[in-house]
Amino acid sequence: MRFLITGGAGFIGSHLAEHLLQRGDAVALLDNLSTGSMENIRHLKSSEGLSYHLDSIENRQLLAELVDDADVIVHLAAAVGVKLIVESPVRTIETNVNGTQHVLEAASKKRKVVVTASTSEVYGKNTNVPFHENADLVLGPTTKGRWSYAASKALDEFLALSYWKEKKLPVIVVRLFNTVGPRQTGRYGMVLPNFVKAALDGKPISVYGNGRQSRCFCDVRDTVEALARLIDTPRSVGEVINVGNTEEISIEALARLVKERTRSSSPIEFIPYDRAYEPGFEDMMRRVPSIEKLQALTGFRPQTPLNEIIDRVTAYFQSKSEPAHHAATSAV
Ligand code: UDP
Repeated sequence: MRFLITGGAGFIGSHLAEHLLQRGDAVALLDNLSTGSMENIRHLKSSEGLSYHLDSIENRQLLAELVDDADVIVHLAAAVGVKLIVESPVRTIETNVNGTQHVLEAASKKRKVVVTASTSEVYGKNTNVPFHENADLVLGPTTKGRWSYAASKALDEFLALSYWKEKKLPVIVVRLFNTVGPRQTGRYGMVLPNFVKAALDGKPISVYGNGRQSRCFCDVRDTVEALARLIDTPRSVGEVINVGNTEEISIEALARLVKERTRSSSPIEFIPYDRAYEPGFEDMMRRVPSIEKLQALTGFRPQTPLNEIIDRVTAYFQSKSEPAHHAATSAV
């Protein structure tokens, strides 16, 4: 099959490209390198079947040509990371809403399959874990910048599902939960690369808030396997599907585990949310996916254990000679 991956030089996009190229598919990448990086795809550049285009999804002519040449479009290009969202809300909203609109419009003209990446952020402050795909989205007020990300992604979902309903465009909406692994940078605030880097550098590991908030971390290899299987499953079309791991850990416990596995002497420090993000910042206390639907559709459940994930991320940072923040990523 021929794939177009928007955001293909980002963290998840580059892993997906690698997976698809390895199984013999043709892959075109479109990335403006805003948060993605050439470093992420350097090892793929000599692969037969790869083409890459360093441009924006705002370039509608190029987008139309690339859509024309593809069977499936995986739309991963997005403004990503809570820190970036708090700092650049205009960019977040415009990139997420306009980008998806362009992709859906271009794909619709040619009736191509579109996989669009949404996020577990859309569940917002819902406390009823695990989150099922048909659960209510509980967002905070528009005066709190964080929620613009969830709202923009929710609008993307509405738009994608409307294209399916009204124009019969085959869309698959995936809600990605916290995804981690080699090549993810800490630059945009993601917790695991920041903790591992701090631990390896002997610097303080900074836990935001009281550390009792929890997350489930999914290895990017599992995420990519889930995506590939969903694409190969015709019943996925028109559906919203959670993709994540279900092993839950508090952020304080994560800090301790990272410290232990890296045999680090770094202190663990607690930083109030106000200082870490912005005054009045609201966090989600628990975020756990229900992955029954993913399993029912594909027979697959992500389940790389957290210890193994931490070791893989540690090995990645150890193998890099340059500082971690040079390996930029883009994800959802
Ligand atoms: N976090 C932290 N220290 C960091 C970065 C993040 O304690 O250096 C916390 C953050 O406040 C959140 C959790 O770790 O509660 C996960 O943050 P991340 O940005 O990785 O993903 P999110 O789940 O917020 O999208």
